[in-house]
Amino acid sequence: MKSYVLPEFWVDRDDYRCIRCGVCVNQCSYDTHYYDPEDDVVRAREERCTGCQRCAVFCPTNALTIRTHPYEYRPNANWRKENIRDLNRQADTGGVVLTGMGNDKPLRIYWDHLVLNASQVTNPSIDPLREPMELDTFLGAKPDQVDVTCGRVQGSLPPQIHLSTPIMFSAMSYGAVSYQAQLSMMRAAGEYGTLANTGEGGWRRELRVYGASTIVQVASGRFGVDRSYLNEAAMVEIKIGQGAKPGIGGHLPGEKVTPPVAETRMIPVGTDALSPAPQHDIYSIEDLSMLIYALKEATHYEKPVAVKISAVHNAAAIASGIVRAGADVVVLDGIRGGTGAAPKIIRDNVGIPIELALAAVDQRLREEGIRSRASVVVAGGFRNSGDVIKAIALGADAVYIGTPALVAIGCTVCQKCYTGKCPWGITAADPRLGKRINPDIATQRLVNLLRGWSFEIKEMLGGMGINAIESLRGNRLHLRGVGLAEWELEVLGVKGAGR
Ligand code: SF4
Ligand code: SF4
Repeated sequence: MKSYVLPEFWVDRDDYRCIRCGVCVNQCSYDTHYYDPEDDVVRAREERCTGCQRCAVFCPTNALTIRTHPYEYRPNANWRKENIRDLNRQADTGGVVLTGMGNDKPLRIYWDHLVLNASQVTNPSIDPLREPMELDTFLGAKPDQVDVTCGRVQGSLPPQIHLSTPIMFSAMSYGAVSYQAQLSMMRAAGEYGTLANTGEGGWRRELRVYGASTIVQVASGRFGVDRSYLNEAAMVEIKIGQGAKPGIGGHLPGEKVTPPVAETRMIPVGTDALSPAPQHDIYSIEDLSMLIYALKEATHYEKPVAVKISAVHNAAAIASGIVRAGADVVVLDGIRGGTGAAPKIIRDNVGIPIELALAAVDQRLREEGIRSRASVVVAGGFRNSGDVIKAIALGADAVYIGTPALVAIGCTVCQKCYTGKCPWGITAADPRLGKRINPDIATQRLVNLLRGWSFEIKEMLGGMGINAIESLRGNRLHLRGVGLAEWELEVLGVKGAGR
């Protein structure tokens, strides 16, 4: 059947510059380029191009330009190009339109409507180059009071995780991302003194040397979960929801379940790896509490246990229940959170922005007097260190970053992760594509990212006259809103600029 879906990208090859080297033919995992020996030219099957830019980056003579295809339908404010395209994709296949990465709709990005304070005459700014600036962050439940006698804390404290910066790498499962991508994130987290999350897809044995900087996930599929999986990590996270697909679970298609993925997940090769949204032993906060304490028991009360939910309308009430159920960390994943694969209709229409969810959760926990009983970690759409520091001021203890980490190692946010053919080797199922990532280089680039963002955060703190991130946490007086309605300012708990 002839597809009515037009190519999304236009492959523009400068024939004068092209030396017929075939680099593009080899680099494109979608077989877009091919050499035509009869005419001695390289041609493109443009309908296959995802716009990932891999071929253009590697073309030795810069002969390639990949641009959005200029085809036009009659302008129509309701029936936009994307609507017609998606509809035709469904008419072709009869299936659900899948996508990867986070929501790209023009929802309001509140970080861009929040501005930070800076010190002037009183409380002068601090020089971050010459004065000590602390980004040290401790995740875990904090007691309401501690008994210190002769300089020593009496009794035992709940387990705490020390981070050298309030930035961690989000949950990304082996199978959804390649082995090399996961290895690089775990190594970088270890080198920089922070944590990387295994995601729900199990944990390769050879990666367990990075246990001190690893969070392991327990999702409904329980892939790879056993006593050693829980005990060799620094923290355990129960996954209830994910920002990109609230209310639906994880699904790794059988073709991505290769022998090593199957071994890691403890499932047969080639079977679909399904982890439904509901955990079938959790139907109430009491059930959740039983799982939290089962995991604490299994880890001898030595590891903080986190619970991750997607940011939805009643996130504040859910978070309160999670804290009361005994979790040490609450993780909120917002509507712009990334994913390897999700139904597009869910990704783009379900959930709420993380900024609003974070503000509501922090406020509710404070009002109920239980804010210190758990740390709050947020995820979903962080683009730079400015977003991170604003999240801390809104009440987060730390953030997870996913897409920025992938971009640091080559991702161009083409959103085709679900195909398993990522030409950058990041979300690739084929181990030969995974080898396109050099873990030494990728680790260095990730460490550079953490260092660069951390340094920028220190500079912003210095400008505010603050020398420890702890002093900024939840201090909304350092934020002002610009271009926001009264109700938005109220939810965010910040004043409008000029007030
Ligand atoms: S999918 Fe990527 S590598 Fe292939 S032609 Fe398009 S931009 Fe080039
Ligand atoms: S990980 Fe790969 S497939 Fe996914 S958005 Fe990035 S470049 Fe595209």
